[in-house]
Amino acid sequence: MSCLFCKIVDGSIPAKHVYDDELCVAIADIHPQSPTHLLVLPRKHISSLANAAAEDQALLGHLLLTANALAQQSGLVNGYRTVINTGDDGGQTVDHLHLHLLGGREYGWPPG
Ligand code: AMP
Ligand code: ZN
Repeated sequence: MSCLFCKIVDGSIPAKHVYDDELCVAIADIHPQSPTHLLVLPRKHISSLANAAAEDQALLGHLLLTANALAQQSGLVNGYRTVINTGDDGGQTVDHLHLHLLGGREYGWPPG
């Protein structure tokens, strides 16, 4: 398995882990775009949201609820941004589904 995030999940590549449970891990993004920038990674390898299946429904919900719990723990009382980049047009660069949790500043809309 050559997937970077699978290696981070299994511990063979180091990362700054901030949370883990039986379904997911959360790490600090190596190139933070905000004062808070975490990545929530499912332990299961799913290459992108486009390749998630019906059987992943509960897992996908768990990623969102985990992101909110981490946002609350991070003190993001004024709100935050969650992002899942999907495929080339979506700007995905690591082919293991992940949810960005961004906070600590304001974000514009529409995105760039
Ligand atoms: P995306 O462009 O949505 O696929 O996001 C990939 C994210 O992974 C980017 O924000 C990168 O900065 C981040 N990233 C890449 N390599 C690492 C790493 N070794 N540890 C932590 N974050 C990483
Ligand atoms: Zn993977």
